[in-house]
Amino acid sequence: MKKEYLQQFYKKSHVEKLEALWEAEAISEEDYERLKNNTLTLPQDVANEMIENHITNYEFPFGIAMNFVIDEEEVLIPMVTEEPSVVAAASNSGKMIGLSGGFQTEMKERLMIAQIALKNVSDVEHAKKVIQENEERIIELANAAHPSILNYGGGARKVEVRLLPADAEFETPEFLVVHLIVDTGEAMGANIVNTMAEALAPYLEELTGGESLMNILSNYATESLATAKCVIEPKYLATITMDGETVRDRIVEATQFALADPYRAVTHNKGIMNGIDAVLLATGNDWRAVEAGVHAYAAKSGQYRSLSRWTTDADGNLVGELTVPISVGSVGGTLSIHPGAQFAYRLLGQPNAAELSRILVSVGLAQNLSAVRALVTEGIQKGHMSLQARSLAIRVGATGENIDKVTKRLQEAKHMNSETAKKIMKELTEEK
Ligand code: NDP
Repeated sequence: MKKEYLQQFYKKSHVEKLEALWEAEAISEEDYERLKNNTLTLPQDVANEMIENHITNYEFPFGIAMNFVIDEEEVLIPMVTEEPSVVAAASNSGKMIGLSGGFQTEMKERLMIAQIALKNVSDVEHAKKVIQENEERIIELANAAHPSILNYGGGARKVEVRLLPADAEFETPEFLVVHLIVDTGEAMGANIVNTMAEALAPYLEELTGGESLMNILSNYATESLATAKCVIEPKYLATITMDGETVRDRIVEATQFALADPYRAVTHNKGIMNGIDAVLLATGNDWRAVEAGVHAYAAKSGQYRSLSRWTTDADGNLVGELTVPISVGSVGGTLSIHPGAQFAYRLLGQPNAAELSRILVSVGLAQNLSAVRALVTEGIQKGHMSLQARSLAIRVGATGENIDKVTKRLQEAKHMNSETAKKIMKELTEEK
């Protein structure tokens, strides 16, 4: 990638941005044309086959976060989001982290879990024993239900049994839950593991004498944990009014607050998901699946806590670390049909599912740094307000060069609201 063409990307016009991406060799000539002609949208007839009662398509903005260096590789991050400042914040942190060496990531394994929930098992100890004794047969049956996964190097890997005791407080009975752990290759794997789980249920009923209640993937993807780390020199954290060491210490304290308090942790983690969700949406992945798993992981200690940790190392650097469960695919799902998602993959350099997971967790950590740094320095509103002013200007009908004019006057006004924006629009018309 010829990075020099992407300098001050945010200042370029739409056409200049597309040209810069092409000149930087970040996109192909075909994609340059597709972007210019706006043909990366989802065709109506395809959408009509995707959901029920389809009447139209609903669009979101697609942007690119700059400055990311992940495992020593420069990556342009596709983000689909409706929220102003998310892309700018990611790019800003990407730069700060990039100056200090970028992100180091890790993903040891990428396995999905299917649950077969059995009820009315009369002898649970015997049931556990027979399931463990027949693990090989269970794996064989699972693979036979979706044999093509073996061609992709995947397949069922192991079987685990969990006994959920009855609980008088919630009036829940005892459940014996069989977990089938599956390597789903490059797929997210929901359909693959669901097929396997359903196929196993009759055999497990026969083995245990129990009755299957349901057979389905768990979105708590604890066997697919991705981690990103970064080390930042304090000088890169400084703001106009605060030195780097003070910002560093306040970021550490902000995480301590989010580790201790669920009310803060939810918002802290929402900031992380601002980044992760935007990339999931851009790449056509199931963001609800990842969201659900991530929040459960935040509560793994019994209390909902911050997912990220910011600490200081012996040299006085700020050290960030984020681990989250990520279940994504580089094949199948929406990616197989959405031209925009396919473009996002090309922009990322066609990562495999594990590489995409590493990118996602890095973006989450970057987004978290930006949010927390803003909160412990000038506050979030200052940066947000200029973008909100722009949205407000557009909302009251400003177009072309009027958008900048209305935005500027709105920021200078005592009250930034639609009434003021309408007044400014009127003034501008009268001035003309
Ligand atoms: P798909 O069924 O769309 O894709 C998986 C298929 O891709 C495989 O069965 C295989 O089909 C093909 N494939 C091609 N190359 C590979 C490869 N290298 N590795 C693995 N498979 C490959 O999707 P998933 O099973 O991944 O399921 C994801 C979808 O399921 C998402 O859209 C999600 O929203 C949805 N979903 C989610 C649920 C949840 O999260 N709780 C529940 C139910 C559905 P073949 O063998 O035919 O080539």
